[in-house]
Amino acid sequence: MHQVQARRTERGEKAFLIELYSGVQGEGILVGERMVFLRFTGCNLTCDYCDTQMSRAIDTVARIERTPGARDFETVANPIDQDSVLSRVTRLAAERTLHRYIAVTGGEPLLYARFIRRLAPGLAALGLSIYLETNGTLPAELERVLEHVEWIAMGVKEEADGASLETAWRFLGTARARKVFVKSVVRKNPDIEHYRRVAAGIRAVDPGIPFVLQPVTPYGPVVAGPAPGEVLELQRELKRVLPDVRVIPQTHKLIGQI
Ligand code: SF4
Repeated sequence: MHQVQARRTERGEKAFLIELYSGVQGEGILVGERMVFLRFTGCNLTCDYCDTQMSRAIDTVARIERTPGARDFETVANPIDQDSVLSRVTRLAAERTLHRYIAVTGGEPLLYARFIRRLAPGLAALGLSIYLETNGTLPAELERVLEHVEWIAMGVKEEADGASLETAWRFLGTARARKVFVKSVVRKNPDIEHYRRVAAGIRAVDPGIPFVLQPVTPYGPVVAGPAPGEVLELQRELKRVLPDVRVIPQTHKLIGQI
């Protein structure tokens, strides 16, 4: 439902946003980088640990920060056109030394691939490189934006979340033309065979691609993450398959960032 709505709106060169702000990247191998975050609404998957429930739903308004880091949000009616988004990104990115990247995230941002493609030259003119956070399920949409993206943080989900590994490998085969790493959230009692299949799939595409294990942050129906020993054992197993396997939790929550 949300996916259909996102696509229909995309043709009108407008997008549904949840928020736009400046913050610290809390996940993945660029952890700690200051970024502008452009968060689209709507997702085609249904992960139970999703900490962006509001990003899955279509809301009537988006919150948009005026001053980087001040959390002085204005509310703007959805859907929002490209010029309005670009003018507000321009305001946030006015201090040129602060941000190197704009994190294009969601929800699933590739539901808005055409919108992102049209926005990209304006972002580049501001000196912002695109860091795309995606669930790795829409390879055709990735091709539309690939030339404009510097980094791809690709989540590999489990089939229970509505994803398929075959699609993930097609996606990764395209994504490897840019800088890319793969990330999987690790639940309690992790299914080691699933993660082994993921590690082997990454290796088959390119053994140099990093694989980040992100212990789940308890949220909503998820009341506990994996035990420390489970994470260590999983990393040990996977490093037999793939050389670069890292454990990186969600750090922005540790330091009170949104
Ligand atoms: S893919 Fe991401 S945004 Fe979509 S439901 Fe899963 S965790 Fe949430």
